[in-house]
Amino acid sequence: MDAVNLLGLDRDALDAYVARLDEKPFRARQLMRWIHRRGAAEFDAMSDLAKSLRTKLAGRATISAPAVIGDGVSSDGTRKWLLDVGRGDAIETVFIPEDDRGTLCVSSQAGCAVNCVFCSTGKQGFSRNLTTAEIVGQLWWAEHTLRRDAVPAVSGEGERIISNVVMMGMGEPLQNYEAVLPALRLMLDDDAYGLSRRRVTLSTSGMVPQIDRLAQDCPVALAVSLHAPNDALRDQLVPLNRKYPLRDLLAACQRYLRVAPRDFITFEYVMLDGINDSDAQARELVALVRDVPCKFNLIPFNPFPGADVRGSAPARIRAFAQTLIDAGIVATTRKTRGDDIDAACGQLAGEVRDRTRLAERSGRRPIAVAVRTA
Ligand code: SAH
Ligand code: SF4
Repeated sequence: MDAVNLLGLDRDALDAYVARLDEKPFRARQLMRWIHRRGAAEFDAMSDLAKSLRTKLAGRATISAPAVIGDGVSSDGTRKWLLDVGRGDAIETVFIPEDDRGTLCVSSQAGCAVNCVFCSTGKQGFSRNLTTAEIVGQLWWAEHTLRRDAVPAVSGEGERIISNVVMMGMGEPLQNYEAVLPALRLMLDDDAYGLSRRRVTLSTSGMVPQIDRLAQDCPVALAVSLHAPNDALRDQLVPLNRKYPLRDLLAACQRYLRVAPRDFITFEYVMLDGINDSDAQARELVALVRDVPCKFNLIPFNPFPGADVRGSAPARIRAFAQTLIDAGIVATTRKTRGDDIDAACGQLAGEVRDRTRLAERSGRRPIAVAVRTA
């Protein structure tokens, strides 16, 4: 029987696991704290667990995150890890340090089936869903690596370097709901990462039924990738719109707001030259979202090899933002971070087609470049 990877067990699952081992319930809490708060990877290090339990665990469980095959730091401090998830697939995790917070951008799938025209991950196609252990493993790895690398090193359980998580890496998180949900629960759990619901943001291209499920199961902050002011254009840019058109999507946003930890939805809107960036489209957008409390995050398009769209000029983005602002909508333009290491939004490709190169890179030596599909 395969060993159970404890990184993928949320509180309920870990409780059940500990019960199956005939151990006292409080052992689950101890284990959770050792793994997620202290970053332990070995059962032997867990000094307050009985030796007999440690031996039992060593024989049938593991704590293992995906192997790191690339580690790059951008000139702006953004750090990107490339992680091997087997069979030639790799995923990316990006840490974005800011003055008042540290944000980790986490992937949920290897590739993505939604196939938005402006997205490098989408262009690569869908490979597979990540497991909960692979999703949480990104946070576990990043948090504890950053603590070790900090000068002076951060130790103990109390201090955290990652204060915010955004599910905005590779993949459509709501197309991998079953694995994402326990991962979110671990992010929020006080015995794991203890993040508040407001500091965990899930970004979706618009999976309407799963937005409703998330509202019930684990309402975190929600970002919705809008990108177009009408169905005709959104059908082209975000093919999922043909299944869940804007009217349904905005109604789901309204329902979500009843339980959301924030009183607005964040709409993401990638600015594409001559496609969705005119003043008329900005006005259409204002009318579209009239009834939804929201903020807009305008994203400058990040180019990638093989892209067949171009980004809007900065002056166009400013004018577009101004139209929204004049209508009373908060609109910010996202700063592009980490683009010199291809870590910016939509540049995450991460697929490793050539396994020999994968093997060559399998040491933990930092590298400055990422493996690209093109
Ligand atoms: N699949 C989810 C989350 C991952 S993408 C979603 O689509 O919402 C995170 C954000 O980056 C999304 O808003 C997405 O539309 C945007 N994005 C994708 N490709 C981009 C690119 N090339 N330049 C800028 N933003 C991009
Ligand atoms: Fe998938 Fe999001 Fe990229 Fe669209 S933008 S292809 S949903 S990862």
